[in-house]
Amino acid sequence: AYPGPGEPPCVVVGGGLAGSLMAIYMARRGHPVEVYEARPDMRRLQVDRGRSINLALSTRGLHALAAVGLEDEVRQMCIPMHGRMIHPMEGEPHLQPYGRAGQYINSISRQGLNELLMNTAEARDQVRFHFDIPCVDVDLDEGVAHFDDREKGERVVREASILIGADGAYSAVRQRLQRSGRYNYEQAYLSHGYKELSIPAGPQGKYLIEKNALHIWPRHDFMLIALPNLDATFTVTLFMAFEGATSFEALKTPADVEAFFKREFPDAYALMPTLTDDFFANPTGSLVTIRCAPYHHGERVMILGDAAHAVVPFYGQGMNAAFEDCFVLNELLEREDGDVGRAIAAFSRERKDDADAIGHLALYNYFEMRSAVASPYFVFRKKIERVLHRLFPEWWIPLYTMVTFTNMPYALARERAARQDRLLTLGLGAAAALACVTLAALMMGVLG
Ligand code: FAD
Repeated sequence: AYPGPGEPPCVVVGGGLAGSLMAIYMARRGHPVEVYEARPDMRRLQVDRGRSINLALSTRGLHALAAVGLEDEVRQMCIPMHGRMIHPMEGEPHLQPYGRAGQYINSISRQGLNELLMNTAEARDQVRFHFDIPCVDVDLDEGVAHFDDREKGERVVREASILIGADGAYSAVRQRLQRSGRYNYEQAYLSHGYKELSIPAGPQGKYLIEKNALHIWPRHDFMLIALPNLDATFTVTLFMAFEGATSFEALKTPADVEAFFKREFPDAYALMPTLTDDFFANPTGSLVTIRCAPYHHGERVMILGDAAHAVVPFYGQGMNAAFEDCFVLNELLEREDGDVGRAIAAFSRERKDDADAIGHLALYNYFEMRSAVASPYFVFRKKIERVLHRLFPEWWIPLYTMVTFTNMPYALARERAARQDRLLTLGLGAAAALACVTLAALMMGVLG
């Protein structure tokens, strides 16, 4: 059931990553599509090259991009990262592989990817983008969105055959849903925030640290990470408490920042000539988890991506989950024969557990990245898991592999991992007990 002639367009609120990809999917289903974006067109703005922000793209995101034929173009923009390069306080950096040989995640420029999606949507799929026009209200029952055209100083009202809120964690469409009856909504901020910094390219455009890895400086209560860019720079992010003894608040002067980096991340510090300028020029971002239900209202209005389920960035899955949303919604429209009402209701029902699961996993992974990776016991368990996975590839799959290198529903991955975790703990306990008994028997034999 494709839209009939004269039907209102599909209206997408937000031309970010999820909104631009969903626009392509909807256009290919035969809908005329209009995207309304609050910000100016990033393709026409002067870009500050020092502030290229990158993201880790993995199997789920690539799968959703491949379904609209963009995988090859996207892969050309990617830098493979084969593992975590751990920079300990003492000793040399060492690589913890993410999976088997050939399994890697990809560093990609947020802006580059967003531009590719917008260009594709416009040029190949006749999607119409409107910039600098934020959505300010939605009539949920009628499927009508209200926008504020800042340039003309007037209100634009648009009826939609399907209205998709892809307007991020602070979504205007979701805020309207929140004011509808019996709407469930929860938001939780971490007490930690983040700040983006950078490592420049070396002489002759050389990477100053290993190119094909995600670098981590785990320091238990805080951490620094770095992801490579195509121009041989690295985007560096410091995650740390907002307040307290070791916190953003405590770093008041350039001297404070220099002393902190020299003490905690000496090898990174040596590569960051613009550290203090970046530190005070760039904002400190907050990290929020958002859970809500349902993701739709009536027959025409729905939300997806961060608007429906913002997660903290520690599993590198927010964008991947948002892209997977687009893929799933398209599948549901297919399954429901184009019936928008039935498809968006099914999306709410079928996507919620998975979104909640990745929200929880992402919160846990902050602990794993900033602390557990530095523990010998953690490394030992990971090694055993890798051996088990090699011996029984279908039966034992490490959690990271399920989340990052498969399309298995997040909730199922989480459930399987909990089961495996219990088994491993039991197995290690039994092995330790057996070793003790054997040792005791040997000693008794020797002594006796
Ligand atoms: P957004 O990208 O936020 O896009 C929303 C769009 O809507 C924006 O363009 C915005 O301007 C527009 N908008 C907002 N309000 C309105 C309005 N009222 N009207 C019209 N338009 C509006 N994810 C990963 O998968 N891998 C990573 O490595 C990763 N790293 C991250 C690191 C950090 C520090 C952070 C904060 C996030 C990270 N994420 C990562 C998460 C990822 O950025 C998000 O999940 C992703 O951007 C969600 O896409 P979205 O399109 O739903 O929302």
